[in-house]
Amino acid sequence: MAAKLKKCLLCGKEQEQGLLILEHAICSSCEQKLVAAKCEAETYQEMLTRLYPLSRLILSKA
Ligand SMILES: [Zn+2]
Repeated sequence: MAAKLKKCLLCGKEQEQGLLILEHAICSSCEQKLVAAKCEAETYQEMLTRLYPLSRLILSKA
């Protein structure tokens, strides 16, 4: 079974590794941005906005 490249949810960059959420991925650099963003309210809000569709997806599958 060939590994299918996932596209990062935040930057759209294809990558094999990183945080996988259902069929979505968050690459390590975006993951670091997410962690760093906790200190920067504005960026964090933007991330939350981007992640909102994903959280709805997760809830719909829960
Ligand atoms: Zn990314």
